[in-house]
Parts: sequence; C-alpha cells; structure tokens
Amino acid sequence: MENKKNELIIPKDSLVFIPLGGATEIGMNCYLYGYEGKWLAVDCGIGFPGEGLPGVDCLLPDTTFIAEHKKDLVGLIITHAHEDHIGAVARLWEDYQCPIYVTPFASEILRNKLQEEGLLKRADVQIIEKASLIDLNPFQVEFISMTHSIPEPNSLAIRTKKGTIVHTGDWKFEKNSLIGEKPDIKLLKEIGKEGVLALVSDSTSVFDEVHAESEEDVRESLKKVFKEHPYGKLFVTCFASNVVRVESIYHAAKESGRKVCLMGRSLWRIDDAARNSGYMQGIPEFLSEREASELPSEKVLYICTGSQGEPYSALSKLVQKRTNAFAPEVREGDFIIFSSRIIPGNEKEIALLQKKLVAKGAQIITERDYLVHVSGHPSQEDMKKLYQMLMPTISIPVHGEALHLAEHIQLSRKWGAKFSIGIQDGEVLDIDEEAPEIIGEVPVGILAMDGKKIVPLNADVIRQRRKMVSGGSCVVTVVLDKERHLIGEAQVSSFGLLDEEAKEMEELKALISKELEGISKKTSKESINEKIRLVVRRYLNRNTGKKPLIEVHLVCL
Ligand SMILES: [Zn+2]
Repeated sequence: MENKKNELIIPKDSLVFIPLGGATEIGMNCYLYGYEGKWLAVDCGIGFPGEGLPGVDCLLPDTTFIAEHKKDLVGLIITHAHEDHIGAVARLWEDYQCPIYVTPFASEILRNKLQEEGLLKRADVQIIEKASLIDLNPFQVEFISMTHSIPEPNSLAIRTKKGTIVHTGDWKFEKNSLIGEKPDIKLLKEIGKEGVLALVSDSTSVFDEVHAESEEDVRESLKKVFKEHPYGKLFVTCFASNVVRVESIYHAAKESGRKVCLMGRSLWRIDDAARNSGYMQGIPEFLSEREASELPSEKVLYICTGSQGEPYSALSKLVQKRTNAFAPEVREGDFIIFSSRIIPGNEKEIALLQKKLVAKGAQIITERDYLVHVSGHPSQEDMKKLYQMLMPTISIPVHGEALHLAEHIQLSRKWGAKFSIGIQDGEVLDIDEEAPEIIGEVPVGILAMDGKKIVPLNADVIRQRRKMVSGGSCVVTVVLDKERHLIGEAQVSSFGLLDEEAKEMEELKALISKELEGISKKTSKESINEKIRLVVRRYLNRNTGKKPLIEVHLVCL
C-alpha cells in the first residue's frame, strides 16, 4: 500500500483507518480500513453546503485515494440510508467499482440513485439481512442492529487478525424500537467479551448528558398535540427519511380523526422505499393533495418536507404561492409543527420560513413547546453504556465538529479507553494495540455538486458565483476600430447592481469613453482590457460600495 504523492508507506501488517470525510464535520461520512494490502470502505455520504455556496446542491468527499486503490477494494459497506452516509455512492461509484453491501431499506434508496446515474446494471449491490456475517478477506464483518432515526441502522464489527474494530455508524439505544430491530445488546456484549481493539463512534450528541426520550414518547406527545388542536389545518414537517416518525404522525392523526396527506417528492419516495421493504404495515396509502382537497380542513393532516427551510420543499412552496391547484392554503387558525431538530447552519432559513408562515396567520409549534422530536444519536448515558459493554482499547471519535470530538476524547478516557485518538480527514491512523499513531496523510478535499457537474470547492465557477451573489456583476462591451478609436459608445449591462435607467450607467459609459481617449494604436489589447476593468471597478466600488464580478468584452476591428 503506497501513496506515491506523499511517499506514504503503510506496512503490510499494519491495520489502518483513514477518514476521507466525516472525521472533522457532521456529514460526508467516508471511511477506509486497510490491512494486508486490501481496503474496506464504509459509507460514502454527502455534506450539506449551508450558506455561502449558492447553487451548490451538496458536497462530496474527494475519493481520489480510493480510486487509486480500487483494485484492492474488497467492498463498500453502508451503515444506514441517511444522505450523509449513502448520498454520494452513485455519484462517486466510478472511484469504487466494488460490491456494495446494504440492508433492504437502504437498497431501495440506493437503487433510485443508481438508476438516476444510469448505473443500476453496472453496480453490484448485495443485500444484507439482519445480523449478517460477511467475509471480505482479510476483513470479516458482522452487522449489529441498532436504533436511529431511520430504518435498519447498523454498527459493524470488523474482525481482522490484528483485532476487532467496532464502527458504530449513527446510533442510539432505544428500548422499544417502534419499527425494525432493537439494539442487539446481547451481540454487543459478546463482542465486548471477545475483545475490542478500537471503537470508531458517533459524537453528534456528546453534549447531551442524559438519555433522550424515546420515539414512543414522541408518538404519545403528538397524539396530545393533535387533540389539543382540533380546528384548522395541521401541517407537520419532519425529515422524509424518518419513517418511524411518519408512522407516529399517522397513528396520532388517526386518533384525532384526521387522514394523512403527504406533500413533497422525497416523502413519497421514502414512503415507496419503506413499503417495498416491509415498513408502514397496516397503514393505508396516504392521500394525494387532490384527495385531501375534498375533505374539510379539520379532517386532514399534511406531512410536508421543509423542516430545514429548504427553498424547494413543500412547506416553502406553500408560502411562496408556487403550489398546484389542489395544494392547501396556509391561513389564520392553522398550525405548523416542526417535528425535527435544527441542523447547525440552517437556523436562518428555518427562522425565515417560520416568519413567513406566521405572517399568514399560522402558529408554529416546535420542540420548545411540546415533545415533537427526539434525537437519533447517543447521549453520554448511551455512550457510556456502549463503552462499558465493548471496553475498547482505542477510542476513535468521529461524526462531530471539533468541539464534539474533543469532548468525546475526554469522556472516552474516563470510560476506560487506554488510548483516545483525535483524527482529521485524510490522516492515516495505525491502529496498533500498544502504540496507535498517525503515520501519514493521504490527499483529501471537498467537491461541490454544482448542478450536473462535480467541481472542486475552490473552482473558479464557485468563486465567481459567490462574488456575483454578494456584489452583482457588470459586463462591458467595447468596439474599437483599427486606429483604436471607440466606435459608438461602450455597452454596459449590470446584474443585481445598478438600475438600467440609473444615471450611474451614463456616467460609467462616459468614464469608459474618456479612458479610451488616452490609448494609442500601439496599446495592447490586454492593457486596454485592464484599463477598462479598473475604471469600472473603481467607479462601482465608490458609488455602490460593492465589489462586483466585472467582465470586459473588447472587440478590436
Ligand atoms: Zn444517520
């Protein structure tokens, strides 16, 4: 195993762990384990762009290192079907080209993504049933059922001759799992007795000290909320992938005599995947907006996408009046329940959406008012329990921001881990029982999914677009004759900057003409171009206080 770029030599008998994403952020989970010249990949998810990246749909990990080693890749295992664990598989499949192991629900989600990329026939997708054991020599991988905010989350016990690594994925201990399996405590304890060399685990909720309420509590609470609001329309927004929450909302709505209508493409898509893999049992087909429109307001409950204020979600469309003829109208006396957490970075968008809904007369209900959401990640109480069962020698916290990881490192020492390692994306950790250490780095980076193209985050197109969004843009066209004299006048167009009618436009044209008076036949095109650009930049900066994107088209006859 050798990476020529960094002259990194990994000894063949070393067992190594390399995060290519997910170790220094929440999202974009993408991990590699290496041993005896072979590689095992775990998860391949997207990141969320947040503010400051206009037009970028999502972020992807740079998997160049995987592409360079794909002939030695024994498989890609997906722990669960959340976008930050499965969302980049289809887009980056060319870099992997190895068998993909997924549970039935995740395979439904993956199938859609592969189809969109035209890869359905090429990709080798292996479906894993509960508590499976797969031999991916030199790794033997056992799937351990867990609970989380999506069906079929799994932790992995990755056994090698050097020892066992438990890779948790996202998890929490839910006593009464309302769908799917309960956490397999028995198996976890057995693995703990066998001995665990390293635990690679979720740090998302490390600051929550006590065990959070369960989904069962949320279901009961939703029943109470719906009963206390018998009039007007009820809208509930939650993550589309939270199948158990959709089931909870259905059961609570049924008790209040309301039928459920789904609004939003991703909700319908997940509903389809859930039903195809055996969930939503006993729940009739949800109503379409057309069917719901025939019922009185107090007999319907709408489940909508848009809990994070996403601009193209069903909830956002309702306030923007971009709805179809059957879409409900938000009015005074209606209630909007946000049955989800705020993903850090989305605060502004959510607040803006809530403001628009309130302006329409609706009232907002969030987890501050009622128990309408619980986290799917482990609190300190859950984490401590897991450490007690597994007794890992080495703790490797992942899935968190720097503060989460630092806290997890401290706590893991308290909970008995002999070593606790802070690792950054791209670092290579030698998981050695006696002396684990970072032995090098591999190239990593973040890519942006920009429409249909994948581009580096620092690409010119992204930089230019950011500049356009903050400062607008200005395009100047100038035609010069053979003597370098201006023909007619300069043409100036501005976008998001000046009014076409504004007197500044005329002033700017006059300034450009004046600047061109001083040039001679010998002046180079580049120099003329730069002169015009400088005049325009200085004028716009002085008059608008902006630094727009400026483009000069110079035509010399
Ligand atoms: Zn998750």
